[in-house]
Amino acid sequence: MKITIHRGTHQIGGCVTEYEHNGWRLFVDYGEELPGGPKTGDLQVEGLTYGDLSKSALLITHYHNDHIGNITKLPNGLPIYMGKVSREIQLILSDHLKSVCPAHKDMANLLQNAQTFEAGKNFTFGSFKIKPLTVDHSAFDAYAFRIEADGVIVYHTGDFRLHGFRSGRFFDMIEKYVGKVDYVVCEATNIMRKSAASKSESALQNDFVSLFKENKYTVVYLSSTNIDRMFAIYRAALAVGRPFYVDSYQKEIMDVIVKSKSMWTNSDLFKYGKYEPIPLMSQRGQFLVNDSFKEVLGKGYVIAVRSIEKFDKFLEQIPGEKVKVLSMWDGYVKEGTAAYKENLDNSLDGNYVYMHTSGHIDMEDLRQLFQILQPKAIIPIHTDSPEMFVKQFGDEWHVVSLNDGQSVSLTE
Ligand SMILES: [Zn+2]
Ligand SMILES: [Zn+2]
Repeated sequence: MKITIHRGTHQIGGCVTEYEHNGWRLFVDYGEELPGGPKTGDLQVEGLTYGDLSKSALLITHYHNDHIGNITKLPNGLPIYMGKVSREIQLILSDHLKSVCPAHKDMANLLQNAQTFEAGKNFTFGSFKIKPLTVDHSAFDAYAFRIEADGVIVYHTGDFRLHGFRSGRFFDMIEKYVGKVDYVVCEATNIMRKSAASKSESALQNDFVSLFKENKYTVVYLSSTNIDRMFAIYRAALAVGRPFYVDSYQKEIMDVIVKSKSMWTNSDLFKYGKYEPIPLMSQRGQFLVNDSFKEVLGKGYVIAVRSIEKFDKFLEQIPGEKVKVLSMWDGYVKEGTAAYKENLDNSLDGNYVYMHTSGHIDMEDLRQLFQILQPKAIIPIHTDSPEMFVKQFGDEWHVVSLNDGQSVSLTE
């Protein structure tokens, strides 16, 4: 088996990995590069962007744009596999964005034909045996893959973490469904962000409970597709009796989760309690704010918001001395970073409480994973510093740091 990292050896975003065996090609992810980061431009990859696609397939780890965002640029007819709930969420997201971004219309059409896989259930493509494994990440229904061909076993981590609500049985799952492998293709987002993952998602939820208890009026800026965070905040609001408001788009996403028959949604976290999230009413593209609604809001609220004009205007009209919370990575509001979001920076106006924990694995947790997998070699991707990864893990493990487009043969 041969592996080629077409992109993502030196950047967090736009990762594209290829596994090749006997003419069969299995690609993992085809995402967009981060908006302000390094740009390699459109890729030219045989068997993916051009040439014979009859022995090619694409696996999508999860719906984040840096993993799925460029699939509409691929030729028609390439088989695409992804998780079922992940696909549903992407469809809602694309439907929501298609009027402002035409590529999302193509995305929605394309995903109609995407095939879905199930956690823990093997499937084959050509000479590859693939086992998808559900992992905890800031995207719901995210996957790692155990990929096997010609006696060689690779664990492709995808984006994941061990400090989330759904990571409690991660090592059991690895022992039961993966075991020892020959290679690990590993995300290393946090190699340069040492404190990003220091808090667990449940400790963060407790912080929200305290915040909502002490403050009557809170607005939280978060990603609508960060499902665990959305439900954590909703349940925290519920616990202290604050009504939780969302817009119809966010409600639609939450409904999908509540109704989904995923193995996670047996948990109370992903169920609606006595009071459901309340969708804000819209009229002619604006949220409706009349006197009776203002009176209701005056009793207290937690509102999930986004940095768009519609929400900015809404917040100006409603009563209450609001506490603004940033519940996303604060790199988004630091000018000069690859991911800087001017709108968000403007909406927060420097006046906010930062309550967040990373969607990505902490390096100490990673060490534990390698102990179980016992790989012959580790290939870091989805990182801005493979050099630092070598420094951190090279004493204990054989780390193969590649450049974009470089291939290596994987042997038993
Ligand atoms: Zn991700
Ligand atoms: Zn990612």
